[in-house]
Amino acid sequence: MKIIRAETAGFCFGVRRAVDYVYKSIEEHRNERIYTLGPIIHNPQVVEDLASKGVKVLNNVDDIDDGLVIIRSHGAGPDVYERLKAKDLRFIDATCPYVARVHKKVEEYYRKGYQIIIAGEADHPEVIGTNGWCNNTAIIVNDVDEASRLPQLDKVCVVAQTTLNGSKWEDILKILLPKVNELQIFNTICYATSQRQEEALQIAKLSTAVIVIGGRNSSNTRKLYEICCKVCDRAFLIESADEIDNLSIKPDDVVGITAGASTPDGIIEEVITKMEELNKDAQQNIEEHVDEHPEQAPVEETVNDAGVSHGADNDNGRSDEVDFAKGLEETLVTYHVGQMVSGKVASVSDSEIIVSLGGKQDGVIPREEMGLDEGVSPSEVFHIDDDIEAQVKKTARNEEDNLILSRKPLLLRKAWAAIEDAYNTGNNITGVVKEVIKGGILLDVNGIDVFVPASHVSDRYVKDLNVLVGKEMEVKIIEITPKRRRAVGSHKAVIEQEKWQKEEEAWANIREGLRITGKVKNVTDFGAFVDIGGVDGLIHIGDLSWGRIKHPSEVVKPGDTVDVIVLSADKENKKLSLGLKQLQPQPWDYAMDKYKVGDIVRGKVVSITSFGAFVELEPGLEGLVHISQVANKRINKVEDVLKVGDEVQVKIMDVRPEEHRISLSIKEAQGDSDNNSEEKWSKAKADREEKNHSTSVSHQDDGGVTLGDIYPDMKDKF
Ligand code: SF4
Repeated sequence: MKIIRAETAGFCFGVRRAVDYVYKSIEEHRNERIYTLGPIIHNPQVVEDLASKGVKVLNNVDDIDDGLVIIRSHGAGPDVYERLKAKDLRFIDATCPYVARVHKKVEEYYRKGYQIIIAGEADHPEVIGTNGWCNNTAIIVNDVDEASRLPQLDKVCVVAQTTLNGSKWEDILKILLPKVNELQIFNTICYATSQRQEEALQIAKLSTAVIVIGGRNSSNTRKLYEICCKVCDRAFLIESADEIDNLSIKPDDVVGITAGASTPDGIIEEVITKMEELNKDAQQNIEEHVDEHPEQAPVEETVNDAGVSHGADNDNGRSDEVDFAKGLEETLVTYHVGQMVSGKVASVSDSEIIVSLGGKQDGVIPREEMGLDEGVSPSEVFHIDDDIEAQVKKTARNEEDNLILSRKPLLLRKAWAAIEDAYNTGNNITGVVKEVIKGGILLDVNGIDVFVPASHVSDRYVKDLNVLVGKEMEVKIIEITPKRRRAVGSHKAVIEQEKWQKEEEAWANIREGLRITGKVKNVTDFGAFVDIGGVDGLIHIGDLSWGRIKHPSEVVKPGDTVDVIVLSADKENKKLSLGLKQLQPQPWDYAMDKYKVGDIVRGKVVSITSFGAFVELEPGLEGLVHISQVANKRINKVEDVLKVGDEVQVKIMDVRPEEHRISLSIKEAQGDSDNNSEEKWSKAKADREEKNHSTSVSHQDDGGVTLGDIYPDMKDKF
């Protein structure tokens, strides 16, 4: 007897995951009730074992009031989740990611207005759950007859039960195509299922008897059995090794053994062990028989890799089949650690991404191998059907029988390539300050450490580098060691380049007469430096105000925003002279209108000479009080009566703007003042303020009044 064991026999990824969830929950929630919504898998032995550990199977959320609920790999409709939440029940969702993918498609197309058709068994829990995602409106067809009876339909989205037989799916589609105006087809048959069915078919073709192990209530086990029956007359479905004795297996049989996706490894091992024991017994019997009857000894046999034997002169077509099986085996892709693979995202969850590689095995990228930043959810970055590349991290079969893949080496390679590119092109690259180390900081640039020396952290001294930790920083790569993947960066170079660029741009636009807004950077004794967008210019003290000032700080202070005019620009030597007062009204331009002969106004003594005193009427406008006009009496020196800073009342005697001259008289103002009543003075002042307020010339009213204001009835005489 020869035994061919199917490689795909036993738990599929989704089932193993769900079963693991339950056993883990038993460990972690010892004092709690644990429920599964329906049997976790269609295997009586596993369900019994779980029951012995206290796990209860209930079909309805309404029957559960407390404890932990586990949704099995078949999934459930949205109403189940809603009811769990409404009852405030804690639950673990063990829905197989492949099934969850079908839910998403159905929900999406239902919302788009498509009629959903599910090819599968109407009473299968997976189909019932999937139907929930289109509000239970799906048409469910399980064979071509049911599909044929459908009327003409407009927009249809068709999906398959994940365990549907591939040829049945194709037959149903052939019927649907002419019946539907717009048909969206999603082949959602799970790869694990189709692979298992294909292998079962090939093994059954090579065998004289096939044993399918699994629960009789397991849909996928039954399908395997049906497939085997089609090509092998002696196919048997058993649930455990106890049933082997009832099978009519003969010593010269080639026995194929496969198992459903919900059959535990332990049960498969038991069956195989028992079959091998039977085989041994049979061999012994044959040997004893040959010893007694040497003429009946069998012809020498060769055994191929699959363990299938065939005679050297075999002419019954079996050798062709064996070659085919071998060929099939060879077409299956093998992987090695470090190999780059590409595929499509089959499902995304917080803990893993399943990658369909289009071959024998799927790949799993665990969360820690995704290369995502902390706090980033995988679903924000990866989407079902996205093309994805990764590197094989582990080929050894893990529990789920999938390859373990990692995006990290790929991302690191890409990150290093970007650093090399930045070095070669001089482009900037951004990272996050990871930590302060001796002599500088380490910048994390997409997983690669870039060293930034302290002297390159900024264009000025940074006292405490720790304040930068966790912050983004742009650097220029100034040195690399490709062999060791080491890079040195400079943020200072970035700042200097930005400054230089700004300066260049600013100088390109600067011209004499340009009016521009700038910011006062600092103030010195001789003027103020103003930044006009990358270039610093100087406003000399004489260009700050039309009036006399002792220090620039009387007009501006650092941080002030000021409108200035470019007085001169020396691009070659980068010298820029700016003016502030030039953008303000020149007092001599309006002096004639504002100051009339005979007006009495207030002013401030700003300088004293031997021939008189200069009185400032407003910034930039000074008049002379001749010594003879300082007082009503004769004086020897102006200083005998006045000192710098005195506020005085003066009468306008003469105004000559073109010569920048105003003649004033204190004596005359006093004479007039003596004749005035305080009341007249105040009234005239108020009238004047109102008049000044309405003038378009912008300057501060000095409060001066004219004789005309005081004696309006005599105005014409002045
Ligand atoms: S058969 Fe496929 S879809 Fe079903 S549970 Fe297993 S892996 Fe998931």
